[in-house]
Amino acid sequence: MLSFTMLILKKRKALIMSGKSPSLLVIVAHPDDESLGAGGTIHQHVRNGIPVDVHCMTGNDERNEELKKACTVLGVRNLYLSERDDFDIDMSMVHEVVATILKSRPTIIITHSEDDYNRNHQICVQIVQQAVEWASHITIFDNAHRVERIYHMEINSLHSHPHIQVDISESYSTALRALKQHKSQISKANDFYEKLYDARTRLRGVQADVKRAEAFTISLPEHAGPFYPENSVKTLL
Ligand SMILES: [Zn+2]
Repeated sequence: MLSFTMLILKKRKALIMSGKSPSLLVIVAHPDDESLGAGGTIHQHVRNGIPVDVHCMTGNDERNEELKKACTVLGVRNLYLSERDDFDIDMSMVHEVVATILKSRPTIIITHSEDDYNRNHQICVQIVQQAVEWASHITIFDNAHRVERIYHMEINSLHSHPHIQVDISESYSTALRALKQHKSQISKANDFYEKLYDARTRLRGVQADVKRAEAFTISLPEHAGPFYPENSVKTLL
């Protein structure tokens, strides 16, 4: 039986052979979530020549400047910013995420987890799931786009059953440097964020038998309509 990792590698090779370039889009609720949840994974993919874009749902002048610096450190291709206040995250933002998906055209989206204790992170996932669905509607958009998979990262709440752990041993120092660009946040609560990122990536590294890792759960876009023909199959094997 093929392992899940082998299936993903086969799929990536097939994408490259079909002329579709693989890319990642990271969608987060707040500036700093991108570095804290997936900084090592972002940089690891950039190192491998995979373009990575970031869309952040909220921000202000100070935090957006910090986010720009962090994304420069990580090597992010395009950054989609917002000036929206933290408390204004709601489902009306779906069309903004759809617009980013149609521009970025990612193979994979990384976002928050519904298990996250933070309410804005939970809503962010729901917005992303709706946006992935809408962006795929060939009856609405001439340039409709199908996202293949959604990866859910960890911030404070740890996944009890992660599907995959990305080896970020070689990207950790860069990811930490990116996290430190969020100067308005990083020294809060006795350096809580830096300690959390250090401890969590070491814990996941122990589980993955590498120095440092970031863990994710994976979900597939849910579709009963005709927009994901891959979801209609003759046999399961
Ligand atoms: Zn956040």
